[in-house]
Formats: sequence, structure tokens, C-alpha cells
Amino acid sequence: MARPVYAVFRGCLADTPAMGTLRIRARAALGVDRRSGRIVGVATESDAAPAQLVREWTGEPVGDGDVETTDLGADQLLMPGLVDTHTHAPQFAFLGLGHDLPLMEWLETYTFRHESQFQDADLARTIYADAVRRMVRGGCTMAAYYGTIHLEACCILAETIRDAGQRAYVGKVCMDQNAPDYYSETTDESLQATEAFVHAVLGGQSAADDGVLVRPIITPRFAPTCSARCLHGLGRLARDHQLPIQSHLCESPAEVAFAKECFPDCVSYSAIYHAAGLFGPRTIMAHCVHMSDDDMRLVRECGVGVSHCPNSNFSLSSGVADVRRFVDQGIPVGLGTDVSGGYAPSLLDAMRMAAAASRTLVAARRDSAQPAAGSPLDAAELLFLATQGGARVMGMQASIGTLDEGKLFDALVVDFAAPGSPVPPPSVTPAVLRHQQADELEQAWRLRIEQFVFLADDRNIARVYVGGRLIHAL
Ligand SMILES: [Zn+2]
Repeated sequence: MARPVYAVFRGCLADTPAMGTLRIRARAALGVDRRSGRIVGVATESDAAPAQLVREWTGEPVGDGDVETTDLGADQLLMPGLVDTHTHAPQFAFLGLGHDLPLMEWLETYTFRHESQFQDADLARTIYADAVRRMVRGGCTMAAYYGTIHLEACCILAETIRDAGQRAYVGKVCMDQNAPDYYSETTDESLQATEAFVHAVLGGQSAADDGVLVRPIITPRFAPTCSARCLHGLGRLARDHQLPIQSHLCESPAEVAFAKECFPDCVSYSAIYHAAGLFGPRTIMAHCVHMSDDDMRLVRECGVGVSHCPNSNFSLSSGVADVRRFVDQGIPVGLGTDVSGGYAPSLLDAMRMAAAASRTLVAARRDSAQPAAGSPLDAAELLFLATQGGARVMGMQASIGTLDEGKLFDALVVDFAAPGSPVPPPSVTPAVLRHQQADELEQAWRLRIEQFVFLADDRNIARVYVGGRLIHAL
């Protein structure tokens, strides 16, 4: 028998349509068209049968046999998939190692050596399969990945992600200067391999089509390792092929100084990327910890998105980024794990580290002469950064990030009662239990989502869907 074309989920839906807004629909039904992978409708407090709901949403003559219904348990909810706006797939090869050095020394001592080994396609296959599996298991439905400078290994990464069913941007790293001899490329090699990679990944599809699962992203490693000709060439490629762009910006004081030394004519670090045509609404800049006023202005005016990578910023002693300042200025912000500058390939960890970073700023500025840091990030804001905020940084806010009609169904079934769950049950959490017993389900779920943000792990991610397809289940 053919599989039903539509899927309907009944139970609690939780998402964050805006920064600080946690939307709970405790008794809802959500329909998915498996052919398009998109949400066809959401109903709240409706007693209508699933097929009836799908008929109302689509206007099609849908029968009971055309709909597969999933009733979520009392301890389960459906939420948008988590979005990782910055990670390095080859650096999973030294996950959790080498956090004893600051950024520039860390690159020379560990990173370049590890990444140079990815000229070996077999190594790439092994490491990338494991990396993508870990990401998916942690509920990451879309990520922006860096590969290495090697074309073949980058194509293997794109294939591995596609096979796993995850949504992604994948970048071939470009570095034609200030790199060791054993891990460098000429300007022409860098630009030609990038163009070949773009064609190989797209295979004739449009980069502007949000339904294309894996798409290329233009990836200068960071300004100091790219010549002006390389950066300008990459800017042209991004414009010609309508591609997103990712790189690093203002991560550590030594790196900012080095960037300015490499490009003495540019007034700020951001101005280097801007001059090369690499700054726009499809640009993702990781870190943005040590931003000058000119950096802030260019990022804001060009619509650049910021990937906040707190674990990495703590682990490499880089500093603490001021997320509240970006948000207040209308700059899009999402979260990045930045493996393996960050040691955890988990957006749950990224939310907790972002919480710690914002509290660190509040505490550090309380008694200093600097302006106050504003309020610390709360659970709803952290969840927004990990979902719709990240989607916006990826230029995908109309396609993923919340559970709304018309969006792609990238979602998680979270199970609070999973075996070994680190989230305590309501029976030992009186505040939750009281609301449940009073039938105040929305209030009970608000508390449980706060617990999810601060306590959950892979064991609570029961099912992962991307584009309507189940790609992971416990
Ligand atoms: Zn990075």
C-alpha cells in the first residue's frame, strides 16, 4: 500500500515567532504534505478529524487513507528543528581537544594540521559521516558547514549531508595567503575549485530554491588568509550565482590586529569584506566579539547576520559577544557551535553557553564604567536564537524556524519522558505538576521548555524531520 500523502501531528506545538515570544499551542493539529515537505495548515482547539482538517487546508478531496496521524504523548511536543549557523566539519576530527591555546596559535598548532589531512578522501568519508550523524542526533536540521580547501573532500561532505537528509550550506574553504605551505592554495586554484564546487553541489538546481537540501556557500576562511584578489573573486562568484557567504569576523584581539595589518587601507575588519562585495543580507559572520563602531555600522547597514558561538569564544578565551547589542540594533543573530573551537556539536549546549555569556557580560559591566549590558537572555530568547533567529541569519526565515503554514517541515519531536531523560518529570517538579493538575497546560509547557533549554540532551530528541522526511528516530 502506498504511504499516505499527508501527515497530521496532534498535540502540543512550541515555537518562537519573535525574539522573546514563546508560542505554545497546547492542543493543536499540524498537517504536512509529504510531496512538498511543507506544512499545509495548523489548527488549534479543533475536534475535526485529520482528513477533514487536511481537506479544509488544501481544498483537495482527501480521504482517511490519505492521512497518517501521529498523536503525541502527554510528555511530548513538536518544535522547529535547531539551526547551527557556524561549524567546521573537518574539526570533528579533534573534538574536545586542544583548547589550551588562543585563536591564532590554535590555528597553527592544531587546526591547519588536521584540516590538511582531508586530501585523503577515505578520512573525509569517515569523519564526515560521524560529524553529520552527531549533528542530526542533537536535533540540528540545518547547519552552515565549513569544509577544507580540498574540492573532493568538500563534495564528499555535501554528499554525506544529502544522504543523511539534513539541510545545509556547505563551503569550500579558501585560503591563498598567510597559510602553511602544506595547507594552502594559489588564488586561481582557490577560485576555480570554488566555482567547480558550486556547480557540483547545485547540479543545475537554483541556489535560490529553498527546497534544495544542500547548497553551496562562499567561504573565505577569514580575511587574513585571503588575498584581495581572492576576496574580490569570491564576491563576484557569490553575486553571479546568488550564493550565501560565510566567514569569521572580530573573533579575538590578535586576529583583529592581524586583519588590519594585512589590509592597511581598510578602516575596519568589516570594511575588508565589504570592499570585496562579500557583505550583504546573505552573509553570515561568525563571532563578532570585538566590534568597532564601524564594524557595527557596516554589519547593520548591509543586513549581515551574526553567528554567536559562545562555547568557542569561552574555549579559546576569545571574549564575550554582546548579543543584546546586536538584537537592539536589529542585526540578525543565530547560534553556532563552531566545532572544534567550541567543544560541543550541540545547539542545546550553544543555548546554555549563550545564557552564560550574557550573564557574564551583565556581571562584568555591573561594576565597570562601561554601559550596562541589558537583561540576560532568557529561555524563550535562547530558543529563538537556536531556531527562527538562526533561520534568519541563514536567509531562511520564510522557509524554516517556526511551525507555520507554508514553511518546510523541519521539526523535532521532543520527549520529556525518554529513558534516562535528564529533565526531571512533573512528579518531582511541583510548579509543573500544579499547572498540569489545574489543566493549565500552556503554563506547564512554558516551564518544561525552560527545562528543555537548560537540561535536555540527545535522549530527549525522539524524532527529527527535515522537509517532511523522518531522518532520525530513537
Ligand atoms: Zn569557525
